[in-house]
Amino acid sequence: MAGDCIFCKIAAGEIPAKFRYKDDEIIAFDDLDPQAPQHILIVPRKHIRTTLDLTTADNELIGHVYQVAGKLAHDLGFAQDGFRVVNNCNEGGGQSVWHIHFHLLGGRDMVWPPG
Ligand code: 5GP
Ligand code: ZN
Repeated sequence: MAGDCIFCKIAAGEIPAKFRYKDDEIIAFDDLDPQAPQHILIVPRKHIRTTLDLTTADNELIGHVYQVAGKLAHDLGFAQDGFRVVNNCNEGGGQSVWHIHFHLLGGRDMVWPPG
């Protein structure tokens, strides 16, 4: 755990969140500032700073993230209509929390390009 990391604190139960999924590797909870009717953050418990810090040791973990994304999309009822999974990397990519996470967005039509 990184001491001043918001997502490590949420994973440790030190900051409250509306959880949608939890297991030993991953947590998923509603984003504080939703950009779609359903906006969930899927977050590995392991403190990985950005996508650029992933190693081959994390391959299974990231595969698991996508399995959970699909499961949540099904459970929340927007899988068939369509949804988006987004990972922002570094400042120019829109990253603002320095603990890797995946936005699961659903409940509306998405536009492309995303901006
Ligand atoms: P990023 O900009 O790094 O891709 O995404 C960070 C996301 O974390 C943002 O969408 C922001 O709304 C969300 N966020 C930041 N702080 C908190 C928090 O304390 N609780 C929750 N639930 N979401 C947060
Ligand atoms: Zn962290």
